[in-house]
Amino acid sequence: MNTNNASHVPAPGRTHADFDVVVIGAGLSGLYQLYRLRRSGLKALVFEAGDGIGGTWFWNRYPGARVDSQSHVYQYWFSKEIHEDWTWSERFCAQPELERYINFIADRCGLWDDIQLGTRVTGLRYDDNGRCWHVETDRGDRVTAQFVVSCTGMLSAPLTDLFPGQKRFRGELYHTARWPKTPVVFEGKRVGVVGTGATGIQVIQTIAPLVTQLKVFQRTPQYTIQMNNWRWNEPDHKQLHARFDELKQRVHNTFAGFDFDFERGSYHALTPAQRRDALEELWHDGTLAFWVGSFPEVLVDENVNADVTAFVREKMRARIERPELAAKLIPTRYGFGTRRVPLETHYLEAYNRDNVELVDISQTPIREITEKGVRTAAGEYELDMLIFATGFDAATGALTRIDIRGREGRTLKEKWGEDIRTAMGLQLHGFPNFFMTGAPLAPSAAFCNMTTCLQQQVDWITDTICYLRDRGRQTIEPTAEKEEQWLQHHEEIANATLLVKTDSWYLGSNVKGKQRRLLSYVGGVAAYRQQCDQVMAAGYPGFVMA
Ligand code: NAP
Repeated sequence: MNTNNASHVPAPGRTHADFDVVVIGAGLSGLYQLYRLRRSGLKALVFEAGDGIGGTWFWNRYPGARVDSQSHVYQYWFSKEIHEDWTWSERFCAQPELERYINFIADRCGLWDDIQLGTRVTGLRYDDNGRCWHVETDRGDRVTAQFVVSCTGMLSAPLTDLFPGQKRFRGELYHTARWPKTPVVFEGKRVGVVGTGATGIQVIQTIAPLVTQLKVFQRTPQYTIQMNNWRWNEPDHKQLHARFDELKQRVHNTFAGFDFDFERGSYHALTPAQRRDALEELWHDGTLAFWVGSFPEVLVDENVNADVTAFVREKMRARIERPELAAKLIPTRYGFGTRRVPLETHYLEAYNRDNVELVDISQTPIREITEKGVRTAAGEYELDMLIFATGFDAATGALTRIDIRGREGRTLKEKWGEDIRTAMGLQLHGFPNFFMTGAPLAPSAAFCNMTTCLQQQVDWITDTICYLRDRGRQTIEPTAEKEEQWLQHHEEIANATLLVKTDSWYLGSNVKGKQRRLLSYVGGVAAYRQQCDQVMAAGYPGFVMA
């Protein structure tokens, strides 16, 4: 690593720091961030904890891992030429292909020289006098940077230590977000899966035909949509390549950053037959359009939500052979779409198999992990392998696990321990020159196609750093009032939705002691982008530059 700063007197807008920017994380946003910084003539270094790049698509290599966004919108938009040199094999691609794509991008853009793999950032300390950040890693690196951009991912801090006795288990124990690169053998084994979120569902449907016995420990049932996946062929590739310019615009102008939007008008304006037809058509499409591209009322109007919920329940019931199983698998306590809706393939049918058992732990929680398996209030389940698909400390976890100290030594953990707030999900009062992607109160994994919002956030951050540099300014920090104003705006929108009535990681309620607040901004991707653009165009009102 080269920390040699050649210039003695920094150019206006620059400090004496080793780097203009340190980026944390080489996932989808971190790589694009590096690309943009380099193109802007800035000296940057990326620290990546993994021994490969890809972030989510590096760590989550569990069986069945696949993206729920259609591949043709889950990609970078910065180069038409590069876009034309890549083809997606399926409408919804699996993890290995996504990991290959991300590596292809790094190769094509020559990004490797500025990425230090296998290095976890452990500490960040702001130096008010030097106007820079001191960055520490678990490999002993000590560098300074004028700016730090966190690209640590919204869903990257896995919840792994959940039950007493985990270390005692004599079988194989895995968390889906720390899946090994070496092959895992399922054949001939009694396997238990804890968790039925988007991840657990993909694991269950994939390994059910392989294992001798599968026990699924379900605390909360999920509404699911059948994924309509297919292989792309040569004419499809040509057509998708031809749509580059249009799609690049389109994804930034829809509610959730996809190639679909709420375009059917109001649910109330349709007759019952028209509503049914629309829902059938969306259902057949087999994408998240049924959820975030159907009718906006689904997320805010109890009656509309009840109608759509009844439709989904009917579709699910038709696929489950035994009524007593259907009663456990189909949610009754919350409305459709108020938690993340997973797409699935033969998930419900997996429970029709003789070797699969649903263990309903809603009334009899897991008490402990024993040497032999899982013990609940109802008894012990003996297993050879246990898979935790138990999710993440979303949005805040990746950052509070780093010792981040802003002005006057105040830690981010303390700040968010009191109240989870940000300025537009991009910056924090008290933490100058610190930028974030995928952070609380910005559109993110909930209600945003991640590649769309991550690229938009990286663009804003890069343009802001260049804005400062071009005007000879060294620091930028939002005021406390700006944070408060954004929080109020966020809360007003969040509290008008049905989302805040249902427990899930969306609200942080999956983590003991975490403040209950909708973590993602749900005012829409297009509306959010416009507000970010307006702030920039108006010279950053609510942000102090020095
Ligand atoms: P998740 O949605 O938070 O699900 C975690 C599961 O573990 C839930 O079923 C939860 O039950 C259960 N669980 C947690 N702690 C437990 C405990 N102590 N005892 C029993 N059960 C427990 O996490 P995830 O499935 O990893 O998904 C997280 C997000 O990642 C998704 O919502 C999605 O945004 C993203 N993701 C996307 C894809 C894709 O695009 N295809 C795939 C996977 C993940 P409760 O519900 O009762 O808390």
